[in-house]
This record gives sequence, C-alpha cells and structure tokens, in this order.
Amino acid sequence: MTIERLTPGSSLQAYPPAEKWDDWLEYDVKQWPRRVEKRYSLVPTICFNCEAACGLLAFVDQETLRVRKFEGNPLHPASRGRNCAKGPATINQINDPERILYPLRRVGKRGGGEWARVTWDQVLDEIAGRIRKAFLEGRRNEVMYHVGRPGHERSMDRVLRAWGIDGHNSHTNVCSSSARLGYALWSGYDRPSPDHANARFILLLSSHLEAGHYFNPHAQRIIDGKLRGAKLAVMDPRLSNTASMADYWLPTHPGSEAAVLLAMANVILDEGLADLGYLERWTNWREFMAHRHPHAAPTFAAFLAALREHYKEFTPAFAEAESGVPRQTIVEVARLVGGARGAFASHVWRGTASGNLGGWQVARALQLLTVLTASVGTPGGTSPHAWNKYKPAFWEEPPAHEEWNELLFPREWPLSHYEMSFLLPHFLKEGRGRLDMYFTRVYNPVWTNPDGLAWIDVLSDESLVGLHAALTPTWSETAIYADFVLPMGHAGERHDIQSQETQSGRWVSFRQPVVRVARERRGETFQHTYEANPGQVWEEDEFWIELSWRIDPDGQLGIRRHFESPFRPGEKLTVHEYYRWIFENAVPGLPEAARRESLTPFDFMSRHGAFLIEDGVYELHKKPVALPEGAGPADDAGLVRAEGRVIGVEVDGAVVAGFPTPSRKLEIFSRTLEEWGWGEEALPGYVRSHVHPKALDAERGEMVLLPTFRLPTLIHTRSGNAKYLNEISHRNPLWIHTGDALRLGLATGDLVRVTTEIGYFVNHAWVTEAIAPGVVACSHHLGRWRLHEGEGSRWSSVRVTLDRRPDGTVLMRQVEGISPFVSADPDSRRIWWTDGGVHQNLTFPVHPDPVSGMHCWHQKVVVSLARAEDLYGDVWVDTNRSMEVYREWLAKARPGPGPGGLRRPLWLDRPLRPAEKMFSAPLPPGG
Ligand code: SF4
Repeated sequence: MTIERLTPGSSLQAYPPAEKWDDWLEYDVKQWPRRVEKRYSLVPTICFNCEAACGLLAFVDQETLRVRKFEGNPLHPASRGRNCAKGPATINQINDPERILYPLRRVGKRGGGEWARVTWDQVLDEIAGRIRKAFLEGRRNEVMYHVGRPGHERSMDRVLRAWGIDGHNSHTNVCSSSARLGYALWSGYDRPSPDHANARFILLLSSHLEAGHYFNPHAQRIIDGKLRGAKLAVMDPRLSNTASMADYWLPTHPGSEAAVLLAMANVILDEGLADLGYLERWTNWREFMAHRHPHAAPTFAAFLAALREHYKEFTPAFAEAESGVPRQTIVEVARLVGGARGAFASHVWRGTASGNLGGWQVARALQLLTVLTASVGTPGGTSPHAWNKYKPAFWEEPPAHEEWNELLFPREWPLSHYEMSFLLPHFLKEGRGRLDMYFTRVYNPVWTNPDGLAWIDVLSDESLVGLHAALTPTWSETAIYADFVLPMGHAGERHDIQSQETQSGRWVSFRQPVVRVARERRGETFQHTYEANPGQVWEEDEFWIELSWRIDPDGQLGIRRHFESPFRPGEKLTVHEYYRWIFENAVPGLPEAARRESLTPFDFMSRHGAFLIEDGVYELHKKPVALPEGAGPADDAGLVRAEGRVIGVEVDGAVVAGFPTPSRKLEIFSRTLEEWGWGEEALPGYVRSHVHPKALDAERGEMVLLPTFRLPTLIHTRSGNAKYLNEISHRNPLWIHTGDALRLGLATGDLVRVTTEIGYFVNHAWVTEAIAPGVVACSHHLGRWRLHEGEGSRWSSVRVTLDRRPDGTVLMRQVEGISPFVSADPDSRRIWWTDGGVHQNLTFPVHPDPVSGMHCWHQKVVVSLARAEDLYGDVWVDTNRSMEVYREWLAKARPGPGPGGLRRPLWLDRPLRPAEKMFSAPLPPGG
C-alpha cells in the first residue's frame, strides 16, 4: 500500500513516505534560519482525544528519544492523514509539566487534597486483596469498573467476564443511549453508519462537520459527498459551523425534531416518493396488522392505509407549529430526501436525541425516512454500524457471568439501553447497594454528569464506596475524591486496538507506545511499557493482567488462566502476545497483507498503524444463508429455524440473513415496546419533550438551555492539559438571541444568572442571531475547576471554594482564574488568558428518560441579569431539590419484570451480557 494510492490527487499534501519512516530527516524548525538536521523514527499510533480513533504519526527524536510532534498517519483508512486540532495536541498532554507521573494514595480524608507517592506493588496488592476478599465472600456486585472514554475493543469485557462479575459501567447514558435505543428497536443495531461520501442527500441532526461523533473522518466524507453534488441539511436550534455549511438550516424548537421528520415522511408518502416495495419486503408490517388490526385483511394495502391514518396529524403545518420551521422548508427538504431514494445518509447522536424526553423516538423517526427511501445499507445510504466495525476474537473466551447488578440495570428501566450510570449516586444514597472497589477510568462524573454534588457525596462516603481507584492520564474533578490516583498512558503511551464505523468499510487500528516501539526497533528490550514511559506511567492492559494474577495467585478462583499466554502455557500473558494473537488469527486478510510485505501481522500493524479489512460493505441483510441439514421451512412470518434457533428470514423466496430483531425485519412496529408497557410508542412517534413550550412556565419567563454542544477544539475532560487547545478555547458564554436579549435588557458581555430547577450559574451573555429565539446555549467543554493546588491543570482549571451549608445548599465560587505559572515548560509563564469558563452541569438535576434511561440534558431555565451579590462563575445548588427531581423522574418509569418474568427482553443486547438465565427476574419474597 502506498501513500499515493491512499491520497489520490493530493499533490499538496506532504507526508513522509512510509519507506522512510525508520529514519526521517527534517531541519530543526527552532534553529531556523540555520539548517540543522534532525533525525526521527516515525511510529504510528491512534489519537485518543475523541472516539473517532484517527491515525497519528509520532516523530520520535533519535537523539533524545522523546516525541517531538504528532502529525496525521496517511495510511489510516478513516482519517487518511488528516486530524483535527486535538490530534496534534497530544504532544501537550505527553509533555504537560503537571501530569501525574507516579501512583498516589490519599492522605487524610477524601477530597482533602493531600497525597503521598506509593509504589505500584502497594497499589496492586491492596486492590487485589480487596477484590479477592469480595469474591470469596460472594460480594461480586461490589466491584465495579466505570469507563468514560472506552477504546480497547472487547478487552475490558474479557477482563470482567474472567472475573465473573456484572461490573461494567459506562458513560453512555449521558451520551448516546437514547439514539442507540431508537436504532436498536428498528434493526437490532444501535448505531447508524452513514455513507456520506456517496450520498445524494445528507441530513444531520447534530454538528458532525465541526465537532460531532466521528468528527474528522465524517467531516471529510460529508465534504466528499458535497463535492460530488450531495445536498446537506442540518436540523439544530443553533447555527453551528456545521449548519453554516449546509444548504438548509432547520432551526427546530428543541425536542420538536421527530414532528418534523414524521411530517417529511408524510410528504414522501403523499407524493409517491417512498419505495413501497422495500417497505413491504423489509418491514414487519404483518406483525403490526396482527396486533393492531387483527380483524382487518392482512394486506400491505391495508397496512399502508393504517399507517397513513396513524400519521395523519403530522402535517407540515403541524410540524411548523411545533418546530418553528416554515412548512415550505419542511416540504422542500422532504422532497429532496425522497428524491435521494437509495442514497439518503443521515445521523443523530447526541443533540436532540440526548437532550429531550423521548429522544429515542427522534432516532426512530429519522430511520423511518431511511426505510421509506430504501436507503438502509446502500451505497450513499445509512448502514447499521456493526457492518463497518471490527471486533476482535480471542484465543479463549471466559464464560458469560452469572450475576445481575441492580445498580446497573435496575427494574425500573427494563429497556434502558446501557447502564443507568448517572444514577449510581442516587441508588447508593437510597441504600440499593454499596461498592467495595470502584474503578473509574478516564471518567470524570463529578464534572461531566448532571448533579455532580451527589457524586461528591457518595465518593466522599467510605461506607458507600469502600475504595476508589481513578485510572487517569490527568487530574480531574473526580480523581480528587479518589483513594488511589493511578497514572495511565496517553495516546502514544499504551497499546489498544480500536475500530469505528466511520465509512462503508471495516478497519482496525493499533494504538501503541511510540517511544517503546522506537527503542525496540533500535534493539532495546522491555518487559513492560512503563519502563519506556515517563515516570511510572502504566498502560491499562498490563495493569489488568497484573491485577488479575494477584487476585488469583494460585489459580484456584479460575481467573488467572484467562491471563496466561496463548503461546507459553501457564505463564503470564504479555501485552505483545495479546495483540500478536489477535493480529495473527482474528483480523481477516491481515496475515496475507503482512506476508506481501514480508512482515509478521504484528509488525505490519506496528508499522502501518491501521488496516482496511474490507471496503464498500453494503446490504449485508440480503446475504444468503447457507441452510444446514434439518433447517425447517419458513414459518408464516418468514422465519427459518435450525435446532430451534432462527437462522434467517425468507424474502422474495430466498433465505437471507436479515436483521438481528425478533422478526429479522426492520421493525416499524415494536412488539417489544407494546409488551413492555409502552404500546402508545410502538411505532416511530413524537414524544413532547420536557422542554416543549407547553411545559415551560411562561409567567416565569422560562427558556430552553442547550448545554451539550461540543467545541471542535476541546473534548470533555481530557483536553484540560493541552495548552494549544486551551489557548484557542477558554470561554463558554451563554448564546442568547437578539430578540430575547432585547426583551431582557441584556447586551453581550453582561453578567447573567441562569436559574435551573435546582440552582443557578452565573456567566456572560453572548447576543447572537445564531440561535433560535427562546433558546439559550452554553458549551459543556469549559468550566474546569480545582479545590487545591496540584489537583488540576492550571492551563484550564480555575481554583474554587465549595461552601456546603447545613440546609443542603452549596455555593461554588471562583477564587483564582487562569494565570501564568512557573514550570518546566516556558509557555506556562506566557499564559495570557484569565478565563476558564463556567461549570454548568452541577446545576442540572438528573432526568432519566423512562424508556431509554438516557439523561435528558436540556434544561428549563430563567435567564436574568445577575444580582449584586453574583460573581462570574458562581454555581449555587440546592441538593435536597436535586433528589426531589430525581424522584419525580423515577415516577415516570414503568418497571419490569416484563413478559415471561424477564428483567429485560432477551433479544435486546446489553454491555457485558450475562448468562441467559440471569435475564429471568427473581421472584418477589414469598412469591
Ligand atoms: S477527530 Fe480529532 S480528536 Fe477525534 S480522533 Fe480524530 S484527530 Fe483525534
């Protein structure tokens, strides 16, 4: 593979040719105008500053053996040599003079700000002893791993399965679980993979061109599509940079998007633009007729009539009234969507799906357009994510665990798509359980989640959380409440494999510790990655292997064997062996590609950093199924079984794979929702949001706050110690429309108080036409804080005091802004900005959607001029009220068990899926 082939027509791009990566010569820019030569070893790795997993190329100085810079890896099939600003800023994270280099143990009370350096042996022995004791005493549900930014495809599932615990927790319910549930109910796959590059029409319900999910790889392909003539529409109350590049901007009232999408569906049906043949062949309309119209003739024509009746209220006029978008625009865009038949690409991830009550119905309504235009899995259409994502297999798989942790999947949310992670403190406070060992990994719930003070409460309480180890490359607002702070490697300091659904192909990429690799190529040997990392920074893989051996030193618990080498029976697995086995045995086509270059598969991945497994993956649902002997004939629903299990579905006389749903079809009608108490939502529909105009108190002057938008230059918590990025972005003012500002007597720069249900924050106003009237917005990336010196990055965090009062109220006040400081990096003395932004999430109560379990981020707020006592950055919270709001939303849930006494439908997947018998709910006491 040559660079030229991967970047056609890219004469203006200059990547070092791959054959010169071992010894690359450049002039030292700092010596200019003198021509001083510098030699580098170029080692590929993967960016870790968002989920997209773009390729990076580390320039390791052959003289100092330090990384000089990171640039793009032209051999990476998704990012193709390009990165956003956050990729190259990895160098800041590695060289941050304040980074945590050694394991630390808390001294004194939690959150007290005092730490002592300890050895890794002490850390591993104490944690292993505690976990072993919990396992021996049958307290497996008291061990929990809570991940913010994953990676490590399937790796942690394997560790936790080997431990036999239901202990995987994630950040997904504050991120994407509503959108995921919407997609999963349609097709069994919980994410879309739009083929933007080949689309004729692209509809984005978020800001993918500038900052959204899979930002850089998607942005490239959206532009590819536009250059080939595709039109782009963006639905967003905010005129984002993405919307500014669109052919159509639809500034919907927050939460009204599904109404607009269903009106578009009606236009497409009315005007004969739908592919009715596809609808007939590929949806479970027969099931709908059997359940909803059992006495009507089960014909497609009757279904169509019933469908039209069901959606008749969703006229363009209705959608205009709900959304504020002119009906003519809705009709015009609908015609373009319909006209793109077979090549309609779309995406919703966070944005409206994560902001609103019923956000999962937005994803279902969007997918209805994809189905009506027969664009599922087509070139230019929208595929299920799993077709475009690689997942590794291992030399042996630990069995599914036999636990069900009610702290993760409680009975109130039987359909929650991921763990109810953001309610963990509320559950602990209610006495639903306790944790003996709690790991957080690149996870900062105190700052990232709603109701962060509830997190501070439980993390400070040793009776609720026995021991907390924060595995993190950098300080965070959560790490300061931990018992152990354990430094883990940044992007170029650890191994990991990642694959993402960025395009209509499947690829795998390899994150690796670049200095270790460069030194190994010079002949040095290392047993562990930390030996080549700065200080004593470990990598997660080696941590889990070592910890697992210490939990089960004699192998009696059956854990150790899962961490033994596949090549040296009985001996401890090394990180090289782990990846070597996967690359040699579980990546289709890789061994052959490596052979062509006279490399081992491991060396191929180490030198290229990524591998394209297959390109142009389309229409896998139509793949014929080879029928085993004994396979039965299709039943009335077209399902074909072998040995009691469904293996395919008959469509047009052929048995094909279909989709992983109960009907093997696209489920326009969800029998699951019907049977689990949500019959009124069984078809794609429109749920009026908790911030619908009718839910706002006009007398109080309530508006809607959008608190979730990303900036292209920052990422949640991890970019806090990237100096380049914080120099670019360090404020998050409140966007407010000119008309609203006029009404409230505000001007840009004025200090405003934004009052939520449980408190308020004080920020500056930014008056703009780039937001819909009645809506305000504030990016969630800013407002980092620290309580004590040494516990937060001074590039980004302001120092605060936290004044907790006996009545349950709390005032956080900024006492020191960003200012220059003395460090090993001379740039720290040149900091010119003073603002670090305002933290808003502390003032948000939890809003768990009763179906998906997703936190519904949008807030009802009152905006007013700040009062005399208010200071910039003030955050005030009533923690009693926050628990009341939790209970109000808890009351909206419809608890299980469901049909057959199940805790959760068997077909709906969940992370770290337990053994099937665990899906059966235990009988109530005496039952
Ligand atoms: S989009 Fe930017 S932050 Fe995300 S992986 Fe790519 S380079 Fe890194």
